[in-house]
Amino acid sequence: TGRLILVPTPIGNLQDITLRAITVLKEADIILAEDTRVSSKLLKHLEIEKKLTAHHKFNEHKTTASIVSKIEQGYTVALISDAGTPAISDPGFLLVRACVEKEVDVECLPGPTALIPALAVSGLPTEKFVFEGFLPQKKGRQTRLKILAVEPRTMVFYESPHRLAKALAQFAEYFGEERRACVCRELSKFFEEINRGTVTELHEYYTAHPPKGEIVIVVEGKSAK
Ligand code: SAM
Repeated sequence: TGRLILVPTPIGNLQDITLRAITVLKEADIILAEDTRVSSKLLKHLEIEKKLTAHHKFNEHKTTASIVSKIEQGYTVALISDAGTPAISDPGFLLVRACVEKEVDVECLPGPTALIPALAVSGLPTEKFVFEGFLPQKKGRQTRLKILAVEPRTMVFYESPHRLAKALAQFAEYFGEERRACVCRELSKFFEEINRGTVTELHEYYTAHPPKGEIVIVVEGKSAK
């Protein structure tokens, strides 16, 4: 019978592809990719010659039903995104939900994602945490920050490099200047950088050194004291 398999792909270091991911990609009847140009490079590197079908936020609403019916007909469909685990701040959720509604099998391979290494390396409590993904860029950003000001669990955010300093300034404003945080930049890549300190210290650092690349911010939760 057919099924949907979410296949995590490297977030920077090609060696992070798993053996199972390679097998699944080799055996899948259909590979759906967020950006076929990005993923065709990966498949070329893995020496997998297969046609890729585009599945991204601009067409997922339209194509989901036909993909589910393909799986019902017995096809194995693999879904990959540009980097990391599909459905995590990436396309995938709508398709998974549609499969669940139709009682079609869904599987997700364990593998690369940016949030877990960032949390684990941060030195902040890992026992309980919340993944916030990207903060709203304009509308709703302040409301979100106000709600999170009392969050006791460690928080994990994805942020673009040109909004990092702004985010850190807002964390100082809404959460307090002494709140601890960890900025993880370019995880698994040659220029990986991990920076720990208070949100104020990190704000000063990144104002003086405007960053490039991909960033995860891990922020301490509000302490009970
Ligand atoms: N699906 C991905 C995952 O599982 O982590 C996330 C995709 S989201 C569109 C891209 C964001 O993830 C980036 O803006 C950055 O916040 C984070 N990210 C991805 N790769 C990263 C890396 N190598 N180092 C730090 N952050 C990364």
